[in-house]
Amino acid sequence: MQKLQNYIDGKLVEPISKVYIDNYDPSKGEVYSLIPDSMKEDVNNAVVAAQKAFPGWSSTSAEKRSQILLRISSLIESNLDRLAEAECRDNGKPISLAKAVDIPRAATNFNFYATAILHYASESHAMGDLGFNYTLRQAIGVAGCISPWNLPLYLLTWKIAPALAAGNCVVAKPSEVTPMTAYLLSEICIEAGLPAGVLNIVHGYGNKVGAAISAHPDIPVVSFTGGTETGAEIARIAAPMFKKLSLELGGKNPNIIFEDCDFEKMIETTIKSSFSNQGEICLCGSRIFIESGIYDKFKAAFVAKTNELVVASPTDQNTNLGAIVSEGHMNKILSYIKLAQEEGGTVLTGGNQVTLSGEYSNGWYIEPTIIEGLSYDCRTNQEEIFGPVVTLLPFSNEEELLIMANSTKYGLSATIWTENLSRAHKLAAKIHAGIVWINCWLLRDLRTPFGGVKNSGVGREGGFEALNFFTEPKNICLKL
Ligand code: NAD
Repeated sequence: MQKLQNYIDGKLVEPISKVYIDNYDPSKGEVYSLIPDSMKEDVNNAVVAAQKAFPGWSSTSAEKRSQILLRISSLIESNLDRLAEAECRDNGKPISLAKAVDIPRAATNFNFYATAILHYASESHAMGDLGFNYTLRQAIGVAGCISPWNLPLYLLTWKIAPALAAGNCVVAKPSEVTPMTAYLLSEICIEAGLPAGVLNIVHGYGNKVGAAISAHPDIPVVSFTGGTETGAEIARIAAPMFKKLSLELGGKNPNIIFEDCDFEKMIETTIKSSFSNQGEICLCGSRIFIESGIYDKFKAAFVAKTNELVVASPTDQNTNLGAIVSEGHMNKILSYIKLAQEEGGTVLTGGNQVTLSGEYSNGWYIEPTIIEGLSYDCRTNQEEIFGPVVTLLPFSNEEELLIMANSTKYGLSATIWTENLSRAHKLAAKIHAGIVWINCWLLRDLRTPFGGVKNSGVGREGGFEALNFFTEPKNICLKL
């Protein structure tokens, strides 16, 4: 069975403990590879390697750093099939999605920041005859990057690329649930000629490797994407050490549908915003608010379209929903469906585990599920489920809608469907969210600020925001 290795100081190495964790193929519910069960000492070794590499990498010209990152980007592109197959097997997501979204986006992340760094400039503030100031934006040192399992290579590279482009060295920790593409990335970095120690990838559990990164005194900056509770735990450790922190956390996003929307476009996109990646995207619109006048029309059309979705092996080209990432997560989703029924909800379609036949019979699958009849403030409508489960809630005016839409502790994203753009803009300004889509969903321009408010996070990724995060501004004042 394949044993993954840590990537430390430019080499693929065993964990110090020599102990490995089982890695599951969720489509079959069986172990198919082994992940290093790393400890604090492995993280220490990675930090030493990163510190050793930092003076060289941070003083390498932006052009040279850019060239190496572009090589990584093109190697990801040329390994598209291999990486997509690995992501599909490790996570359970449909192969079509991994090929069209996850892996191309990982290549784009490197490409985007490899070129962004060439256009990154800092400010100067003139004081007339008195003098002037200029701001240096300097790499900080060793950055810690911790990422989740839902978009494994996509989100890992979204952190690593700006950190490296800005001249930092990195100690990264991918999710222990989906480590495979991070391991393949370490092979790619070696092939691309990334100098030893510039990027280190340490595999293992969050409460060992992740906690060691959060607490390490020589990691002054931590970028984390994952659950809100984990983010709070990282902040508890890192904030008193005055580390720079970026936290991208959970969501419970409203998808708001007005009577005057373009119905066909809305239905087509709402199917995607509800069930893409088995609903395991932080930006999925899990609470669907529908203006009363079209509630019945929407319900009929949405249930009919949902019933056409194919739940099957992720390797099948026609699959719409693949496997849920782990047995534990599948059980969590199923327990929320049960809770919704206990809270008085009616399951309009779905609601059950799916058992496939043959070699996939032990895999973890759930039907796309639509629930109605719940109050906006019940647990089902307040807590993140992170699976193929959405609720329908009617509304009759904007005042009522805003109270319901803004009622959760989260504030990541929202979608508004209306042809009345004046209304859309006014509403967008009042919604508690870091990202609002009008008449679309997940339309991304990588230059825009990405992140959430309230318990969905602190800080913004994307564009120059990420380069600002991974650099420290230093003002230099000269008196003339
Ligand atoms: P998670 O919080 O369980 O794990 C995320 C990462 O943190 C993993 O690598 C994990 O090993 C590590 N970790 C766990 N405990 C840790 C600790 N004590 N200290 C340091 N690191 C620790 O999240 P998950 O289940 O992998 O991912 C799902 C969550 O991620 C959902 O809540 C989802 O909304 C969120 N998410 C947010 C965004 C965003 O951009 N806001 C994007 C994707 C996913």
